[in-house]
Amino acid sequence: MNDEKFHELDAIGDKLHNKFEELKEKNEFKEIEKEIIKLLKSLPEKYSIEFGFNLGIFDSEREKSIEMYRVGINGFGKDGKTYQFSEGYKFNRYLVQGHIVEIPHNYCPQCWDEWDFKRKGSSCSNCGVMFGKEVKLLIDYNECPNCDGGIVSQKNPNCNKCDFIAEEDLVIWG
Ligand SMILES: [Zn+2]
Ligand SMILES: [Zn+2]
Repeated sequence: MNDEKFHELDAIGDKLHNKFEELKEKNEFKEIEKEIIKLLKSLPEKYSIEFGFNLGIFDSEREKSIEMYRVGINGFGKDGKTYQFSEGYKFNRYLVQGHIVEIPHNYCPQCWDEWDFKRKGSSCSNCGVMFGKEVKLLIDYNECPNCDGGIVSQKNPNCNKCDFIAEEDLVIWG
């Protein structure tokens, strides 16, 4: 699947978020929340319960899925506290075996296995591609791939906001 389609899927995630907010404001989840709180009060402290919407894509050839977005309500504790969570993922652009792949940063761009915190010399535990060898980051507009709003450049490879260093063999400058 190419990048544009991933971005289309990401846009559906935004709609899902809005729909959740809309239903929540209309108190459509109140009943469910109440039942969860009631159940939590009867359970040992160690349990938490969550419900919500999620959006993911499954590839039957890779036999892997990528989670794009989650939104919901989590309840925890003996007195049944609840809070709303939402999780989206920052996208990174990679060059892998000659292809440009743009996917959430916590997956392998080749096989879609979970692969977070890519460091120089680390490799995907499923397909074995190595960061800095078969997998490189594509950096456009000097945006740091590791944080929000940080700047890296060929002249100044050290991010001005986080500890990421855009080393020569890890990145390709767009
Ligand atoms: Zn892999
Ligand atoms: Zn950074």
